Amino acid sequence: MQYVIDPPPRAFVPVAGETSVFPVRRIWCVGRNYADHAREMGADPTREPPFFFSKPGDAVNTGGSLPFPVQTADLHHEIELVVAIGRGGHDIPVEDALGHVYGYAVGLDMTRRDIQAEAKKLARPWDLAKGFDQSCPISPIVPAARIGHPSEGRIEVAVNGKVQQSGDLAQMIWSIPEAIAYLSRFVALAPGDLLMTGTPAGVSSVKPGDTLRGTCEGVGEIVVTYGA
Ligand code: MN
Repeated sequence: MQYVIDPPPRAFVPVAGETSVFPVRRIWCVGRNYADHAREMGADPTREPPFFFSKPGDAVNTGGSLPFPVQTADLHHEIELVVAIGRGGHDIPVEDALGHVYGYAVGLDMTRRDIQAEAKKLARPWDLAKGFDQSCPISPIVPAARIGHPSEGRIEVAVNGKVQQSGDLAQMIWSIPEAIAYLSRFVALAPGDLLMTGTPAGVSSVKPGDTLRGTCEGVGEIVVTYGA
């Protein structure tokens, strides 16, 4: 295949303990999947059908020193368990869903909350609030073959050493298999897709110079320091 311009490099996430890396296709995100976070965003946390949005695959990064995002005065952290899809499919039954998972990571669904608030008010898309450059810092992926499929465990993020979000994976409104099954009714999932599974309460504003340390028990850690 001859391209008319140089093709962009494929985004990828390191795999813990491996030299091979996980290639990234799309990043899907579940909205309001923890009741306490739905409440803090002014929504009703009843078990209405899940909703999804996406980030471009090349929003992934391994954290470390990142430039502070442009066009926001209200950058929020959302710590989330990330599911890495290893086998594609559509209309995946709930009972088969975990068989499509390659592994897990912990990531930050960084959000320009001021742009999102404006979009909500005007009934506009969320893309520029959620899908900006480097908006998805993510830990190395750990294969499910090594750790199994987490359904409980502490997930939290500290900002400059102070815990801001702390929850448990067991608090998800839609479980991982349910979210995979539901999403696969709307799009065909493919190897390389990532699914961010929602965030617990405690989202807050990040300032230039802040350091975020996100952890998920048994899965990993992601550290980001924002520059000026
Ligand atoms: Mn989120």
